[in-house]
Amino acid sequence: MQMPPRSNKTDAVMRLLTGKKTTAKNPILDSGFKEEKITSRTPPKSDGTEIDIAGELVSEFLPQVLERFHCCRCPVCYAEAMSDALAKAPTVKIRINSKDDLRQAEAIKAKSRREILTILIRLAIKRRRLKKHEKT
Ligand SMILES: [Zn+2]
Repeated sequence: MQMPPRSNKTDAVMRLLTGKKTTAKNPILDSGFKEEKITSRTPPKSDGTEIDIAGELVSEFLPQVLERFHCCRCPVCYAEAMSDALAKAPTVKIRINSKDDLRQAEAIKAKSRREILTILIRLAIKRRRLKKHEKT
């Protein structure tokens, strides 16, 4: 099987995916929310907040990717796709205690975004051949 250079394609899909409704349903992913937290200078809790970067990105993008590739999104298939994605995604957890931690987390997230998206898209391409259970 021949693969086209994937960077262009990923960019396009990424634009499609990120271009539309990124409502603040996940406040941790919203950088404005983070900025607010920093500038308000609330003293961090004892051991900070742990962020599971891969997990956040997977749950943010999985529904959109499955939809775009017309994969079955019934609860069973969704759960299967989710655990599959999490198994393939690198585990990146970061504990946020300071502004530096946050900056580091942002950088890692920006890098991971593309990687996670690539994983999800590959997964979706495989899954779209599976039987559909949901009625549309
Ligand atoms: Zn299904």
